[in-house]
Amino acid sequence: MTKILRLILGDQLHHGHSWFQKVDASVHYVMMEIRPEATYVRHHIQKIIAFFLAMRAFAQSRQEAGHIFHYYALNDPENRQSLEGNILQLIEKEGFTHFEYLLPDEYRLDKQLQEISQSLPIPARADDTEHFLTSREALGHFFKGKKTYLLESFYRDIRRRFQILMEGDEPLTGRWNYDAENRRAYDGKVPIPSPPLFDRNVEELVAMIEKAGIPTLGHLNAQCFPWPVTREESLQTLYFFVEKALPFFGTYQDAMVPDEPFLFHSRLSFALNTKLLSPMEVIQAAIAAWEKQPAQIHIAQLEGFVRQIAGWREYMRGVYWANMPGYAQKNYFEHQAELPHFYWTGETRMQCLSQAIGQSLSQAYAHHIQRLMLTGNFALLAGVHPDAVDEWYLGIYIDAIEWVEITNTRGMSQYADGGLVATKPYVSSANYIDKMSTYCRNCYYDKKKRYGPKACPFNSLYWEFYERHTDKLARNARIGMAYRNLQKMDSDEKAKIMAQAQFYRQNLNSL
Ligand code: FAD
Ligand code: SF4
Repeated sequence: MTKILRLILGDQLHHGHSWFQKVDASVHYVMMEIRPEATYVRHHIQKIIAFFLAMRAFAQSRQEAGHIFHYYALNDPENRQSLEGNILQLIEKEGFTHFEYLLPDEYRLDKQLQEISQSLPIPARADDTEHFLTSREALGHFFKGKKTYLLESFYRDIRRRFQILMEGDEPLTGRWNYDAENRRAYDGKVPIPSPPLFDRNVEELVAMIEKAGIPTLGHLNAQCFPWPVTREESLQTLYFFVEKALPFFGTYQDAMVPDEPFLFHSRLSFALNTKLLSPMEVIQAAIAAWEKQPAQIHIAQLEGFVRQIAGWREYMRGVYWANMPGYAQKNYFEHQAELPHFYWTGETRMQCLSQAIGQSLSQAYAHHIQRLMLTGNFALLAGVHPDAVDEWYLGIYIDAIEWVEITNTRGMSQYADGGLVATKPYVSSANYIDKMSTYCRNCYYDKKKRYGPKACPFNSLYWEFYERHTDKLARNARIGMAYRNLQKMDSDEKAKIMAQAQFYRQNLNSL
């Protein structure tokens, strides 16, 4: 008699998956909280809690729908603390004849599950997660033979194929891209909405994690855990976003405001990455809100948001699968420095970094521009080894899963792939940070000074970065201006800037 064991990983919480279309007593599901997944990097405590809560709630909801689940909690004495150990234990105990799993999003787990499948005493097969708009291989095929992958062409192809904001082959509103209308600094004119924060008591879970000796980072208020971890909470967060924040999403997408971590961002990345929400339903909810209130939501806001989900998210996944495992070793600039200590504490006199890191430690969240133009920018200017940068990003953020973390960090932010993802390195001096935020107003450092006492570290490091990497960057047409300015610079001035940068690079931990 056929008896199937199906594995669900912690980021495969897709309620609408075809596996759950009908209840079948010969099919059992297994989910497990295991030590290697909680320790492959030092994770933020909120991230571990969010995964365990979401997994438990998912198993419970599927059980309530009639499906048979085996759930190994971290402290279950029967938990063998490995995928293979628990799968084998269940096969022995329950006499399964077939093993099935959903294709993992991570290369590491993909390889591991292929190996486990080959070693099992019963036949095994993998199914698609039915989550993404494109297949793992789509981007590799789309850009076959190309040195750079242009997001725009891939994004337009997705828009055409799925008829997202389209009229036949053309964009519905006549334009593909509204970037020029977005990305302003926040001027305080529009009140920032307060997102739904779910105040679950997680003291028991925290105690279990501590007892198991799982190393974590960051802070948590165990009496009120704020992240959406169920399907209902995820939908609530989505509907709140499209109604209250989407009308200003694009405009303030790049703005940074002290003590306002979320601004007009959606906070949906955890729900999306664990598949509690599907990308298409998120896009459709945003489009429906725009259709319902066209006077409140300008197309620029909507297109800016759709681009993140249908464009960037699918694109990063494609980059990952087209380039792993080699991508994890890329270090184009051969950077070797250690990550400064203050990335783990937020204790630096640089106000922008103190805010962005402090917030990441307290919320397990920073929005895209804080990740790219503050923490990422500084790490790149300081010449930090991409392994150390990756480790930090993979641990600290609630939404960090390798396929989307490494492509954003090593690719977009650190340019360690030599320009596959980004057409130029995302670096800036204090000028950009001051334009997009108010951090500089309360900073120990002087945003205008390039050398001398209290000179903003971003300024000298910015010029020294370009000088140091002239051979690798000077021919890039997109940064020609920086090199022209460097050439025109007075030689005394330049020497002082370079000396200042050297000093800062040698004393990163005391900034
Ligand atoms: P919003 O600003 O509201 O955007 C909506 C959604 O669009 C996000 O939820 C996300 O699903 C998607 N999205 C937006 N930008 C990107 C992008 N560049 N790549 C992929 N999806 C995108 N995102 C992760 O999900 N996991 C990560 O580990 C991660 N690491 C990052 C590291 C660096 C250095 C940088 C620069 C970006 C990283 N991002 C990552 C992308 C982005 O910063 C987050 O998706 C976003 O901040 C999540 O917050 P939100 O849900 O409020 O997003
Ligand atoms: Fe950051 Fe420099 Fe501005 Fe200070 S002056 S907040 S270090 S950019």
